[in-house]
Amino acid sequence: MAHDLPSSLSPSRVSSFTDCALAFRFSVIDRLPEPPSLPATKGTLVHAALERLFCLEPAERHLAAALTCLDQAIDGIRLDPEFTGLALDDDAEQAFFDDAEAMVRRYFELEDPTTITPIGIELKLEAAIGDLRLRGIIDRLELDDDGGLVVTDYKTGKVPGERQERSKLGGVHFYAYLCEKNFGRRPARVQLLYLSKPEALLTTPSEQSTRALERKVSAVWAAIERSCSSEDFRPRPSRLCDWCAFQAWCPAFGGDPAEAAALGAAARAETEVPVAVA
Ligand code: SF4
Repeated sequence: MAHDLPSSLSPSRVSSFTDCALAFRFSVIDRLPEPPSLPATKGTLVHAALERLFCLEPAERHLAAALTCLDQAIDGIRLDPEFTGLALDDDAEQAFFDDAEAMVRRYFELEDPTTITPIGIELKLEAAIGDLRLRGIIDRLELDDDGGLVVTDYKTGKVPGERQERSKLGGVHFYAYLCEKNFGRRPARVQLLYLSKPEALLTTPSEQSTRALERKVSAVWAAIERSCSSEDFRPRPSRLCDWCAFQAWCPAFGGDPAEAAALGAAARAETEVPVAVA
């Protein structure tokens, strides 16, 4: 029996499939529950603080206000399973919040938020390439001084080395493509703001990068279709295995992928709301 195709692709799904097709299957097709991850939860918190900051009037977006936004975001995350599931002790929790604060402070070394003109925050966009639906959430979309669109993506992970830089910017071209399809014009600039350093990676989308993105995403989609119809999702062991939540079902670690399919189906059945019979 062939696997069902996913309903859409996002930048993270494209990376997931190209990094390891089997991990993609476990996550997207089998929809196995994944434990919360400390880096991802910290990213969620910092993004929430900056989202609140940009809801303020431009003149109010100073550091003290950003730290208040962070406190509000901390209040909002304390009871969230994404945070409680980390089961941090008091020291680890303090280190987690201190690190988030350091990132918010570093943000101010990269730009002056009072000068930014956002036209969209946490903007959900969709576009189609043939039958394929692309989906993405843009952290911030703004206008530059000439009225050009600028896509900004906050990054709370490590700054990539030169070899990884291209693939990171590839994700941003995905967002540029979504903008072009939705607003009828290509962004003048896309930028990744790394809050761990701080450092900014900038690129200018072009006709060439748009076409390259279309080709890459179409090729990944065709590969996913083949994998689904042949039920062939191969493991691709790499350093990423150290952080993979699916080792227990991965043949590279002595696991059985068939058990993952049954577990995913059971987990989904538990969360599905029963339909009332009249
Ligand atoms: S453990 Fe490694 S090879 Fe196995 S599914 Fe995870 S990323 Fe892929």
